[in-house]
Amino acid sequence: MFGEASPEERRRFYTEEWRPSEVPEFILRTLSQREFGFDRTGGGPSDRYNRMASVEQLQGVLRRLAPYGVYSSVSLYSVPERREGWLGAELVFDVDAKDLPVRGCSCARGEVCGTCLEEAKQHVLGIAEVLRDDFALEEMHFVYSGRGYHLRVTDREVMELGSRERAEILDYVAAGVVPELTELGFGYPAHFRRRMRLLLPRLSEEMLRDAKVPKRAREVLLSREGRERVLRGLKGGTGVLTEMLKKRGTERLMELVRRINAEMVDAKVTVDVKRILRLPGSLHSKVSMKCMLVRKIESFDPLSQAVPRFVSERESKGIYKQEI
Ligand SMILES: [Zn+2]
Repeated sequence: MFGEASPEERRRFYTEEWRPSEVPEFILRTLSQREFGFDRTGGGPSDRYNRMASVEQLQGVLRRLAPYGVYSSVSLYSVPERREGWLGAELVFDVDAKDLPVRGCSCARGEVCGTCLEEAKQHVLGIAEVLRDDFALEEMHFVYSGRGYHLRVTDREVMELGSRERAEILDYVAAGVVPELTELGFGYPAHFRRRMRLLLPRLSEEMLRDAKVPKRAREVLLSREGRERVLRGLKGGTGVLTEMLKKRGTERLMELVRRINAEMVDAKVTVDVKRILRLPGSLHSKVSMKCMLVRKIESFDPLSQAVPRFVSERESKGIYKQEI
């Protein structure tokens, strides 16, 4: 979003700005068990199967290569340079602002702005809430990825889960619908209602029509007053909802919501334990922003806090053009 970083800017970032202390503690303590990947020129992280014995070694490599991108594995291995001796993997949720299926801004696909970055953040906060409330997970780390957010969970209970169990958690967390509960006529869970509050105003006539939501239900959902009634109805159980939208309208809406929610998260990242993720503290060269650990997520503003020094200097030299 700030334009691509030049090789010279990358070199300056890693020699003058980057500090070992930017690598979060949860990575630092397992650094030598992780596979590292480097994207040397912008073509993707093809330089893989690397092991870093210490953060000092990593610093040396970063200064020497000034890579386009730096990645480390979500898995821990006893032999990371051969990806052997698997010891477990973080549970990861990747919400990329550029891939959100509905957005409150007018960004084209592939672009991001302050608005959709904030929406990605809200979504990741919602996921964290479900993991905390329904799975009792505690060790959650938020990382600004450069164009969205990673939620990385390191509780002992999740580290040894296989791909299938990860997919099941993702289904529950992403879809946010609990069929057994709703069929019994109880209200929808709080996290689902909150998500609906964000989502409903963004549904367009076209999306509802494509999802085959009947005309009468569409009319309810497209009026502000109708949406408010639906949101209140979610609290009271499914009966209220079917009264307003009829059985077919309710089913179609839920199916649409489930699909959109599922598209908010990159499922491949959660399920694939062989993944490498952008290293917090490193530079996202395509957009000239820092990928970084976020300590106070609620107040975090990437457009002021994840901007490397060389970008501010471009600005003061007058060669910087903001594209958002
Ligand atoms: Zn946007």
